Amino acid sequence: MLEVDGITKSFAGFTAVNKATLTVGVGQVHAVIGPNGAGKSTLFNLITGHLTADAGEVRLEGKRLTGLPPHAVVRSGLGRSFQRISVFSKMSVRENIQIGLVAREREELCFWRPLRDRRRDTDELLETVGLIDEQNATAGQMSYGKQKQLELALALAGQPRILLLDEPTAGMSPRETDECIELVMRVVKERGMTLLFTEHDMNIVFGIADRISVLHHGEIIASGAPEEVRANTSVQEVYLGR
Ligand code: ADP
Ligand code: MG
Repeated sequence: MLEVDGITKSFAGFTAVNKATLTVGVGQVHAVIGPNGAGKSTLFNLITGHLTADAGEVRLEGKRLTGLPPHAVVRSGLGRSFQRISVFSKMSVRENIQIGLVAREREELCFWRPLRDRRRDTDELLETVGLIDEQNATAGQMSYGKQKQLELALALAGQPRILLLDEPTAGMSPRETDECIELVMRVVKERGMTLLFTEHDMNIVFGIADRISVLHHGEIIASGAPEEVRANTSVQEVYLGR
């Protein structure tokens, strides 16, 4: 589904991601873990076109994404959320989703698409993420957990085949965290999507991931099945002390 091939990014001489290579299979749940500052968000931004790589290549279903702007990456079948909340905070939940749907349509279809189709898609997304009752609420005034649910709906609006979630549970209460993971996993399975995510809670990572890649100082130091990664001595050093 996704191939990251030797991707590298430096900021003013500091290499945040160094020749990172990883492969995500179709339908897999793949976690990227690593300490704060390891380069996880930078790696995601390189995949989604929010940052331009210095070297290396990213391919989605064999098609080169490198060099494409974010909106073209989204249209290639990739949906994402950000580590920080990014919803239209002064608009209603419903309006957010409507904008998400319009923004992700191809320009030429936008004009012709009947309004009732968009109404149906909006209802369906509200239903999927459990925000039907909040559809008229102002997005920015909802709880953090609910804003994250809305973000997921926005990511789903483009009907992605792969979803990238950067710390989806960051800042959530334990209950919100459980609900968020349950929702994400339900949607991923229902829609047959591939999932690439970062997460600092190892219980969650080892509970849901099929594959795990470990990033440390911008380099992938291990990649494989959860048991392999858990048994890897470099990984243990990174997580259990120096
Ligand atoms: P993570 O998501 O794993 O916590 P990041 O990818 O956010 O790590 O950051 C990796 C490193 O790159 C950090 O040291 C961070 O300070 C640095 N970095 C990230 N973005 C920028 C930027 N735009 N300019 C300069 N340094 C950056
Ligand atoms: Mg990050």
